[in-house]
Amino acid sequence: MTQSRIHRLATRLANQIAAGEVVERPASVVKEAIENSLDAGASRIDIELESGGVQLMRVRDNGQGISAEDLTLALARHATSKIDSIDDLEAVGTLGFRGEALASIASVSRLSLTSNAAEQGAAGMVAQSEGRDMTVSVSPAPHPRGTTLEVRDLFYNTPARRKFLRTEKTELGHIDEVFKRQALARSDVAFSLRHNGKTLHSLNCANDQAGRERRVATVCGAAFMEQSVALAREAGRLSLHGWVGLPTFSRSQADLQYFFVNGRVIRDKLVTHAIKQAYRDVLFHGRHPAYVLFLEVDPAVVDVNVHPTKHEVRFREGREVHSFIFSTLHRALGDLRPGDGAAAIDASVADEQGGVGWSSAPRQAPMGLSTPPGGQWQPEAQAGTADLDALSRLYTSPTFNRGGQNTSIMEHLPRGDDESEVPPLGFALAQLHGVFILSENTEGLVLVDMHAAHERITYERLKRMRDDSGIRTQPLLVPQTITLSSREVAAAVEMSEALVALGLVLDATGDEQLVIREVPIALIGGGIEALVRDVLSDMLAFGTSDRIAAHEDELLSTMACHGSVRANRRLTVPEMNALLRDMEMTERSGQCNHGRPTWVQLGMQDLDKLFLRGR
Ligand code: ADP
Ligand code: MG
Repeated sequence: MTQSRIHRLATRLANQIAAGEVVERPASVVKEAIENSLDAGASRIDIELESGGVQLMRVRDNGQGISAEDLTLALARHATSKIDSIDDLEAVGTLGFRGEALASIASVSRLSLTSNAAEQGAAGMVAQSEGRDMTVSVSPAPHPRGTTLEVRDLFYNTPARRKFLRTEKTELGHIDEVFKRQALARSDVAFSLRHNGKTLHSLNCANDQAGRERRVATVCGAAFMEQSVALAREAGRLSLHGWVGLPTFSRSQADLQYFFVNGRVIRDKLVTHAIKQAYRDVLFHGRHPAYVLFLEVDPAVVDVNVHPTKHEVRFREGREVHSFIFSTLHRALGDLRPGDGAAAIDASVADEQGGVGWSSAPRQAPMGLSTPPGGQWQPEAQAGTADLDALSRLYTSPTFNRGGQNTSIMEHLPRGDDESEVPPLGFALAQLHGVFILSENTEGLVLVDMHAAHERITYERLKRMRDDSGIRTQPLLVPQTITLSSREVAAAVEMSEALVALGLVLDATGDEQLVIREVPIALIGGGIEALVRDVLSDMLAFGTSDRIAAHEDELLSTMACHGSVRANRRLTVPEMNALLRDMEMTERSGQCNHGRPTWVQLGMQDLDKLFLRGR
């Protein structure tokens, strides 16, 4: 390797190096271009592609445009109209601010930028850069108010990068994903996407809730819209709104997860963890939740300048954000009740944390006739061994409702003539093969999986009892010493109060050593050390840990499973009705402990369809 004197890199080369971080593939160009159009206040953005974007990407907007004097600078690196000082950076409200996207793209493609900033007339200008110094030439070109960015032959001059491009189909797929994210982020903007002369998307702008839902349905599929819950919550500097998929609408891949922070789509460990934790108890193992969520925060609370493509952010109050997201989703999912789907409910109640607006509006029953519950469910392994006493025990003791008052679930609602008296899950008609309850409600027929439903009810009730009596702990006969990093030990000392609340009594006995003295009873006999390590690493990363609760829940869930009515147990009609009423009062009763649906609604229309009966 030869060493030469230090010298300045030519502008183009410097920009090409910078492009390595920002321009990974055609989709990166489309992302930067759409962001620029949005920053320019465009209300319509049209995109045209050829050959997966490699041959051509043309992004046209009706934004404020760039004046003739500024056009040269737009293509220069470190030139931006969006920030001026470090203070601006700390509260940045635009999607771009680094001033390097266009310069980077121009250095690895044949780029032209045509724009017109005048209110009237079509007297636009076009800018292109040439040579190793990327000298910009500007000439007149007709263009209505707004801007068109045209990028041809991406990576034509960087063969090494070009090799990394995949097939047309793959690159188009990446662009499509970028397009969808931006289209979700801004339903107030009209978008279109064409590829090789064919229109792939054409989205009108939407300015009301119905329009926004239409946009989400178009982008994410109608099934998601139908099987999701709308939520909106505001607390202090944080506000979260959007749609979360019902647990039974889970996916085998994490491919329907959109999280926006101040309009910017992000990937963030803290956010993912908070959401996963909220779904923990209702999702079938290995399944992924679906969601489209928008978090709005004071720009000063979030640092977007931690990654060149701004896909990652850093929250200054990470724990607050985590707990806000978790509690909002946890509640939205816990509040799902049979019947919520019939009419959108608006449970606007004040939050315990004081004056927090809340609403959740489930749209439909967990599943319709035509939609499978999002997975292949395993048949229950231990079916057939009925715990004959379980039901009678459950149904002769008082149970909880959400208000915490004791009400007897033996109170069966009388069968009324008036439709409004029919409870959401209706009245039991019969039992099928000792497995399903058939019930009639105003919509039609309800089918309930007895065992699954009973299991959830028992489980929620065991959890409730655990929560009411607090975590029971026990000192270890032989305290266990574990070695950790000094950072983890320091954190354990600092958060000892929170750990005690989780049932863990830990003592630091050295810079890198802890002694476990007391643990929750439920954990004794398990891998305590590994759990303590995981809890501490959670606490460090997110300020909270649900591992102990998760572990206990697992035990309770197993207990509930064994203590629940098994198949082939004959129930009387009053017993069946009692079960239905209990489901209506129980949190998360739409799924059993393993995430399977507990009931399905077959509406009269669904039944008509089965018999090819037109009404
Ligand atoms: P940044 O977006 O970080 O400022 P870019 O390189 O993406 O940097 O763009 C440079 C500048 O060019 C922007 O600051 C903006 O002033 C101008 N610009 C780029 N695209 C557009 C557009 N579509 N409409 C109006 N101005 C634009
Ligand atoms: Mg930009």
